[in-house]
Amino acid sequence: MSFRLPPVPALALIGLLPALPLGAQADLVYVTETGLAYHRAGCPSLQRTRLPVALAEAVELGYASCGVCLPPPPAAGPAVAPRGLYRVNLAGATRCEPGELDAMPRALVVRQVDGDTVYVAMPRPPEGLGTRERLRLLGVDCPELGRTNPDARQMALAASEFTRRRLQGRVVRLAFDWRLRDRYGRLLAYVYLPDGSCHNAELLREGYAQAYTRFPFQFLEEFRALQSAARRQGRGLWAAAGK
Ligand SMILES: [Zn+2]
Repeated sequence: MSFRLPPVPALALIGLLPALPLGAQADLVYVTETGLAYHRAGCPSLQRTRLPVALAEAVELGYASCGVCLPPPPAAGPAVAPRGLYRVNLAGATRCEPGELDAMPRALVVRQVDGDTVYVAMPRPPEGLGTRERLRLLGVDCPELGRTNPDARQMALAASEFTRRRLQGRVVRLAFDWRLRDRYGRLLAYVYLPDGSCHNAELLREGYAQAYTRFPFQFLEEFRALQSAARRQGRGLWAAAGK
């Protein structure tokens, strides 16, 4: 008599096999632009958007594991406490070089709009913030995409591409200043990459933005100086302006 295992529904097996491939890399999971859960690569919830995130980062951001595709739980380790708002003015920072990246709340850039505007997701946001926010990069102003002047339009596209390349799909750190939102309700923030670079400052350094000095902010003098340097060197929009 041969011994046979009873048939098991395929879905039940998923939870029993932690070695099932998650994605291209073993520790990658996937999230959507608006959802609050992380998924395996093949989950039906991923039909519209699919952003890969490292499992540890998804968990740290506050995503819950999907109840349908049952991705693996986070590795056991000390729980990361949610971070509150980090305000550079209260921290006494006078330059945008970050000293306290670890204290800043994390967010996932889920959609890039143009050079100075993105959408971020924070499944477990600091008090006063939503789980998804339209974010305006503080203290900078990029040329607008709607311009009809060919040079201006070219610069708007270049700025937009620079921001897309650096931020889209990335886990970033957010720092805030005196004003938390603009009059359109957009979140005003400095966006830091894991390597410590401040994207707001990088836009100025490369000549993709002008310093936006209509309202005071903590790094105004530094941003003005970055703009002047880019202008002297004829970078980005300043090269077009010098034609
Ligand atoms: Zn799922």
